[in-house]
Amino acid sequence: MNLYWEPITLNLTTTFRIAHGASDQRHNVIAHLEHAGLTGSGEAPAVVYHGESQEGIIAYLESAIPLLGDDPFQLEDILNNLPAGSHAARAALDIALHDLWGKIVGQPVYRLFGLNPERTPPTSFTIPIDEPAVMAERARSSGFPIIKIKLGAGQDEAIVAAIRNATGARLRLDANAGWSRIEALDLIPRLVQYDIELIEQPLPVGDIQGLVELRARLRQQGIGVPIFADENVKFARDVAAHQGAVDGVVIKLAKTGGLREAMRAIAVARSLDMQVMIGCMVESSLGVTAAAHLAPLCDYVDLDGPLLIRNDPFLGLRYQDAHLLLSDQPGLGVSRRAAA
Ligand code: MG
Repeated sequence: MNLYWEPITLNLTTTFRIAHGASDQRHNVIAHLEHAGLTGSGEAPAVVYHGESQEGIIAYLESAIPLLGDDPFQLEDILNNLPAGSHAARAALDIALHDLWGKIVGQPVYRLFGLNPERTPPTSFTIPIDEPAVMAERARSSGFPIIKIKLGAGQDEAIVAAIRNATGARLRLDANAGWSRIEALDLIPRLVQYDIELIEQPLPVGDIQGLVELRARLRQQGIGVPIFADENVKFARDVAAHQGAVDGVVIKLAKTGGLREAMRAIAVARSLDMQVMIGCMVESSLGVTAAAHLAPLCDYVDLDGPLLIRNDPFLGLRYQDAHLLLSDQPGLGVSRRAAA
């Protein structure tokens, strides 16, 4: 197989501020795998707070060239032979292999997995951190029936109150690891008064014991809002480590390193009666469409990446209100957008 890649720059529709920091652009890498006249493609989002960079992803892809072999059906061996390192780059290769697999056999990836795309839950739409009135107007004017509110940089109750006042949408909160144990215990009982569907990653990365205690303290107060781990959970083994600590986990291909480990992570979550949200980074329609092929296995969907960028180089999943529509083309069903 022949591997090549292209760095891409995605321009965001609005400054994307979360508890980790703010950005107006993202610098991702697209990997292409060629075999017998067909090309499979995957995306590696260079997420700085995952320790990823465009240069690191490209260096990883370069190191993978001699290890790919010439049989794209040997996904398990190919992926197991890859060196440790960039999970985003591994995700790009895993996604490209699945795209290629589907194109060779002439079937969409969701059919290779035996999944019914009509089971895909509707997606949320993300409101990055800004002044409460600005966030409320974005939530209202989006028209989305499910809103994900980024929190964890101050004014959290004012933000949630303003958005609740502006929309009857289902509201999900994401603190992106931005609260301490004390802040979480103080804020959550106040925030749930605004009718909250779930809360993602309230505590700093790795504080599993804090989640156990937080959930117990909330339950004592009769507060049953589901708590999800996102930044805490990358792989299937991390899902297992959160049994009893959270109600659900957020799976993303850039964390698992692709679709195969994402499937394993979802299976582990199911075996432990945990709920599953599938999410994305700021990435183009290529990476987000790959995640959408697994969405029928999940309870919650947060796949709005293409809606947050202005210059998506690809056409893939489409949005009909909050519903995701996948094409029935072979592989991922993603194509290059014609140059403007
Ligand atoms: Mg999150």
